[in-house]
Amino acid sequence: MVRQGAPEGIGAPLVEVPLIELREVRKSYGGENGAAAVEVLRGISLSIRTGEFVALMGASGSGKSTLMHILGCLDRPGSGTYLYAGQDIAGFSADELAWLRREAFGFVFQGYHLIRTLDALRNVEVPAVYAGLPVPARTARAAELLRRLGLGGRLGNRPAQLSGGQQQRVSIARALMNGGHVILADEPTGALDSKSGAEVMALLEELAGAGHTVILITHDRDVAARARRIVEIRDGRVIADTQPAQEPSAAAPSAVPRAASAAALPSSGEFALSSAEFATQMRAGVGHAASAWMDAREAVASAWRTLGVNRYRTLLTLLGIVIGVASVIVMLAIGMGTRARVIEKMALFGTNRMYVVPGGDNPRGLGGTLSESDVTLLRPVLNVAAAMPFLQGQVTLRAGNVDAAARVWSVTPDAPRILNWKPLRGVFFTWQDERDLATVLLLGKKVRQRLFGATDAVGRYVLVNNVPFQVIGELAEKGAVTGDSDDDNVVLMPFSTGSRRVLGQTHLSWISVLVDDLSKADATEQAIAAQLQAAHHVKDFRIYNQAAAVKAQEETQNTLTLMLGLIAAISLLVGGIGVMNIMLMTVKERTREIGIRMATGARQRDIQRQFLTEAVMVSLVGGSAGVVLGLVIGAALIFWKVPLIFSVRAILGAFGCALATGLIFGFMPARQAARLDPVVALASE
Ligand code: ADP
Ligand code: MG
Repeated sequence: MVRQGAPEGIGAPLVEVPLIELREVRKSYGGENGAAAVEVLRGISLSIRTGEFVALMGASGSGKSTLMHILGCLDRPGSGTYLYAGQDIAGFSADELAWLRREAFGFVFQGYHLIRTLDALRNVEVPAVYAGLPVPARTARAAELLRRLGLGGRLGNRPAQLSGGQQQRVSIARALMNGGHVILADEPTGALDSKSGAEVMALLEELAGAGHTVILITHDRDVAARARRIVEIRDGRVIADTQPAQEPSAAAPSAVPRAASAAALPSSGEFALSSAEFATQMRAGVGHAASAWMDAREAVASAWRTLGVNRYRTLLTLLGIVIGVASVIVMLAIGMGTRARVIEKMALFGTNRMYVVPGGDNPRGLGGTLSESDVTLLRPVLNVAAAMPFLQGQVTLRAGNVDAAARVWSVTPDAPRILNWKPLRGVFFTWQDERDLATVLLLGKKVRQRLFGATDAVGRYVLVNNVPFQVIGELAEKGAVTGDSDDDNVVLMPFSTGSRRVLGQTHLSWISVLVDDLSKADATEQAIAAQLQAAHHVKDFRIYNQAAAVKAQEETQNTLTLMLGLIAAISLLVGGIGVMNIMLMTVKERTREIGIRMATGARQRDIQRQFLTEAVMVSLVGGSAGVVLGLVIGAALIFWKVPLIFSVRAILGAFGCALATGLIFGFMPARQAARLDPVVALASE
């Protein structure tokens, strides 16, 4: 019995308040969307004292279950007052109600309401998990309870592997896990055969005998007769309240024959609490929190179990994420790799180069010529790094008694920079050589081989059209062959020498221009054209803008990469939709489990943490596996000579998408479900 307001040690008489008191409680269903509301409870007033064994009896549909849900704080009354230990529960927070369900009540449902993915032992442990009991203690207690209820050999069985009677005994053990001060049993024998039903009834009587407050709901007069008080309900009203047996008392000896085993069940010694003590306990209990580390470990272990039980579904979810992530990584790598290779090939010919060639756009128009003075005009143009006259012709070379025909390029000391071609041995000629019409030259690799074999050519002399030239350098191998022209089969000499002494021609083959800033190549091209046109008065030249060609190619490649990326993103999206589907299904299917967990005392944040952990684990594992798979496929492709460039951004992006998908579609619906009233969640399916 609950004592209230008794000053300690003064010996004042105890003022008794009932453990549970309902005043004019009403509850209606419906009433939304224009449907008429149906009042199921029409003003129930009822008080139940600690240690009572009460049967709530009534025909099917009379509102018994509705009443029990309100008594067990699974649902709130529509109107009226519910006092628990003298405290109005209307003022309780969600967490305080969760604490009350966890610490004060133990539910036994007609349909057992066990979590199907957990075995008997873990089902019984659930209330203790939320109470924060350490693992060894709660496992020991759950095993002990199951053993006492005759299920010692069934600890590892899942609900589907147990008979109805056994499942109901598991649910009774669960109700007792945190003490089970008040046992609320809704038609506990309704789904059982008569023998199992008798066993369950005997257990409840035993618990009542041991001092538990037992509220038994039944439509069966014979079952109700086992209780010491019968409250009869019809049409949402109490129509009778009788006490066939003598006044119960917590101290009274058990009336159950199997007193020996009853003594083994939890005692009710600590049940009597004052209202103030109760409030203090509740505050302490609600405030109590297991360490974050314990919580995290618990959540991971539980998520691991759930995912393991639903292996097929987990695998499908993972597959969606893995394929999505891997394809994004591989496709973007291919796109970027191909792009880089194409650009690299084009860069071989020089990306920031322009060539001004004689001859207008009209092939039948003026021939037009370019001279050295045109080069001088171009040098000061903005963004022009260097401009070089280029004149090529054919010569005969002789070294000793070896003759060779070769192409000669008359260029300036800007050539190494503009042609991106440096001497391998020796030096390049200087501006002084250019001014002096010096008879010096550099040999391309093939010319050197033909004239001198393997020996060093630098410093030796060669006759060019019978004029002796000194070899001052050997050029590195260029390896560029276009049609019949082989860049390694040339000699390079100063422009002045080539044009005046060797070829006797001042008209240029073309002007090579080096551009500083690639991004301004188009403007530079226009400036060059304007400059030359002003000097020539006609447009008798053409400009080949290598930079523009590269830029166009780059744009094509970017489009290709973008398309590959899009395809990959679509596959990620499709994978994501699959994941979303499965996760939504999971939450929907598990809403009843959420209801069970809340009935056994889980707070909203416990439920949220559980689903969050599961979602994060699936997406982390899937995302990581996707990254690994992507890299493995990439490595295989590299082995097959496909150009690939992995991008950290793509990898992180794909991984992030996987994580976000898991969080949004795994966690958000669970968050919604956790906000339901326990009774709504329980009723789902
Ligand atoms: P009992 O347990 O005595 O059989 P219930 O309390 O389950 O009765 O239901 C009482 C009445 O309330 C029934 O007519 C039932 O159809 C109705 N009812 C119960 N739950 C709901 C609900 N969630 N929505 C609408 N009507 C409900
Ligand atoms: Mg019912």
